[in-house]
Amino acid sequence: YAAKQRTEDITVYKSELVTSTPDSLSLLSELRQAVINNELRVYLQPKVATADNQVVAAEALIRWQHPEKNLVPPFRFIPFAEQTGYIREITKWMIRSLASQWHALQTHDTPFRVSVNLSTRDLMTASFPTFLEETLAQYNVPASGLCLEITESAIMDDPNFAQRTLEKLSAMGFRLSIDDFGTGYSSLAYLKRLPVNELKVDQSFVFGMIENNSDRMIVQSTIDLAHNLGLDVVAEGVETGEMYQALGELGCEEAQGYFIGKPMPIDEFLAWRKEWNRSHGLT
Ligand code: C2E
Ligand code: MG
Ligand code: MG
Ligand code: MG
Repeated sequence: YAAKQRTEDITVYKSELVTSTPDSLSLLSELRQAVINNELRVYLQPKVATADNQVVAAEALIRWQHPEKNLVPPFRFIPFAEQTGYIREITKWMIRSLASQWHALQTHDTPFRVSVNLSTRDLMTASFPTFLEETLAQYNVPASGLCLEITESAIMDDPNFAQRTLEKLSAMGFRLSIDDFGTGYSSLAYLKRLPVNELKVDQSFVFGMIENNSDRMIVQSTIDLAHNLGLDVVAEGVETGEMYQALGELGCEEAQGYFIGKPMPIDEFLAWRKEWNRSHGLT
């Protein structure tokens, strides 16, 4: 794995050379400019407990408020940022933003968790756990207030190194989640060894679960598998009340999707949560 270059700057330099078409070079400089000019935005999407409708967490999803384009969705720049290694700067920007606003999101004694999406580059950066520790300490945020979402494929890039990083992060108190579960190539043998707390059933299975019996079976088996391994389950892409109801009946702990709430800027999220709590008789 020596060729994989886990040190900070060399990877960026190397991949820039590999992908240095005029378009990609200008996108990279635009992205750098976006950070400097404060054009990135944090959107939050609620995660709700199916048992009592409590808003227990939110996932942070990035948007780019481009001066000339409309709001740019992540699929337009995150894959590119991952290729070039610039994603590490974006992840740091995201974590700093969340840490600085974390206290504004709290309501009860149990910390309201915020999930962040990590990429394989973050996991491969040896200094990443220290960065997290220092940034959270700076804003007085407990590790238990953050959930780190990692896709199967990010882990399978280098499973042994990823495992060591995840063990470090778990020991530091972060909640760990496997994102888009069922779409990657992770083997159950690895999954069993990883110190993760939750699985997120991929939305492609959730979309089909009402109409398609195989999708429903996949969702049900994933929930059972997760529970047998001692993990909680979150379903993403919950678009209808029927799905929400069915997931609750299957024992899925948390749901996330347009039926509950879309990703929103933080101010809107706070207003949305007030209204959700009011209409569900919660405090
Ligand atoms: P993800 O982490 O699996 O996030 C879930 C995606 O599903 C989000 O898309 C969300 O808006 C969308 N979604 C949620 N509920 C529903 C629903 O009911 N129906 C439908 N059709 N879609 C729903 P988004 O925000 O466009 O993000 C796409 C992906 O981009 C994310 O997938 C994640 O992999 C990546 N991403 C977003 N923000 C970041 C970030 O800050 N860092 C990294 N590394 N990746 C990010
Ligand atoms: Mg995610
Ligand atoms: Mg996902
Ligand atoms: Mg997804």
